[in-house]
Amino acid sequence: MLIILDRDGVINQYDGSYICSPDEWHPIPGSIEAVARLCHAGHRIAIATNQSGIGRGYYDVDTLDAMHDKLEGLVEAAGGCIDLITYCPHHPDDYCRCRKPRIGLLEQIRTHYRLDSLNGAIMVGDSRKDLEAGVSAGCDVALVRTGNGLDTERHLAERPIPRVQVPVFDNLRSFADALLASEGWQKQIESV
Ligand SMILES: [Mg+2]
Ligand SMILES: [Zn+2]
Repeated sequence: MLIILDRDGVINQYDGSYICSPDEWHPIPGSIEAVARLCHAGHRIAIATNQSGIGRGYYDVDTLDAMHDKLEGLVEAAGGCIDLITYCPHHPDDYCRCRKPRIGLLEQIRTHYRLDSLNGAIMVGDSRKDLEAGVSAGCDVALVRTGNGLDTERHLAERPIPRVQVPVFDNLRSFADALLASEGWQKQIESV
């Protein structure tokens, strides 16, 4: 399965302030191992992240690359692999096509894998805009309670995304636990 992850608040800790250097980039406990376990089970991992801090002039692309080198190095040390990191560098006022909840980043990912659609892929995020982008692009979606997730869960209860039931997990580790457990269950059924 193709699993598309938001970055801030899903893989790394995020309290609403911009992360402007690799030293400020800290993984959420268990998230790196969760990515590695998903890879080990045969899943593909891509990232779609809004990085308007570039458009706002808080940090540059080289610094973002250095943050992503840190992220990828940790995942590889844990035995996993991130296929692709897509990011939107634009300021919200640019009205680009890639800033989530728009689907440009997910289209980049679809093109990378030469897929006709993202049906069957899953987008995991901590913010409503992640879920809306995922739904618009044809993905299944899941919410984690890390980062903005608790606020997002509360707002979704008040204003659901039409016709979408969003599964909620405490963090990326519990998402991976649930996905891998359900697959183990399916394999058991198939082998009967
Ligand atoms: Mg986020
Ligand atoms: Zn953009």
